[in-house]
Amino acid sequence: MDLTAVREVVDGRSAVPWHPGDAWLAGGTVLFAEPRPGLRRLRDLTTHGWPPLTVSATGLEVAATCTITRLLEFAEAPDAPWPSGRALIAGCCRAFSSSFKVWNTATVGGNLCAALPAGPMISMALALEGVCWLRALDGAERAVPVADFVTGPGATALAPGELLRSITLPASALSARSVMRRVSTHAWGRSVALVTGTRARPDGPLTVAVTAATTRPVTVAFAHAPSPGELRGSLLARLAGDLLLDDAHGRPAWRRHLALHLAEEVRGVVAEGQ
Ligand SMILES: Cc1cc2nc3c(=O)[nH]c(=O)nc-3n(C[C@H](O)[C@H](O)[C@H](O)COP(=O)(O)OP(=O)(O)OC[C@H]3O[C@@H](n4cnc5c(N)ncnc54)[C@H](O)[C@@H]3O)c2cc1C
Repeated sequence: MDLTAVREVVDGRSAVPWHPGDAWLAGGTVLFAEPRPGLRRLRDLTTHGWPPLTVSATGLEVAATCTITRLLEFAEAPDAPWPSGRALIAGCCRAFSSSFKVWNTATVGGNLCAALPAGPMISMALALEGVCWLRALDGAERAVPVADFVTGPGATALAPGELLRSITLPASALSARSVMRRVSTHAWGRSVALVTGTRARPDGPLTVAVTAATTRPVTVAFAHAPSPGELRGSLLARLAGDLLLDDAHGRPAWRRHLALHLAEEVRGVVAEGQ
């Protein structure tokens, strides 16, 4: 779609002051998907040339401009580190309700910043204990856990003019036992519920995270593996009120049912190896 109100596209490294009507441009698959009459200037992030993926002893740094295709290539490479974490990353990349054409353009950072409830990169980064590295126009940086980054549909912790530079995933989370389950109404459909489970040690803490069914990510953590009843009780206490998403893809009661069902499946895998 043409963004007819846009008057200028500038290099993302430009220091020109931020004005209302400015927006960061990454892949553009959200920005160009609908009319945006208030948009006047795009600030192209791809000019930064950030390396898409950086592997180190401490974990994986994913540049905000890394495409879904590039991340999926890494996740499915036979000789890369962290097979468990990579399997979860691959599952989340494949949870995109789109074809490779969109995957080639859409970015990881754009997915987090668009903050759609069915954002699979949000699910991935949340499960793997990701940290978002934000950068203001004056160069000041701050770190925000992914769990606190998405605050609602289309809403994030970003201040005006601030950009998401990268997401770091610690080696400890990438090495943990992890699993994802999702439901959508058809094979390439948008996720109606996506649930992940992670556990670093067989006798250690266990975390379950729910996305897509909810307006923002929901995490429940246990010091030890919960019983099915404990998990269900904790989730029911959290999945209340307007936190459950209500749209054309599913009603709140159905989404809650799916979230509970998938949560029990992931609990079985990470707690008991079923
Ligand atoms: C057919 C199709 C299917 C899709 N399926 C899904 C789906 O299943 N789930 C889903 O969540 N999305 C889906 N999308 C939407 C979109 O493709 C993804 O959310 C994608 O990851 C967005 O990335 P982008 O680089 O294209 O973002 P852009 O369109 O460039 O940007 C999206 C928003 O984030 C801001 N932004 C981008 N990068 C940054 C940054 N680094 N720092 C600060 N702000 C930034 C932009 O200003 C804009 O507001 C789909 C789109 C299409 C066309």
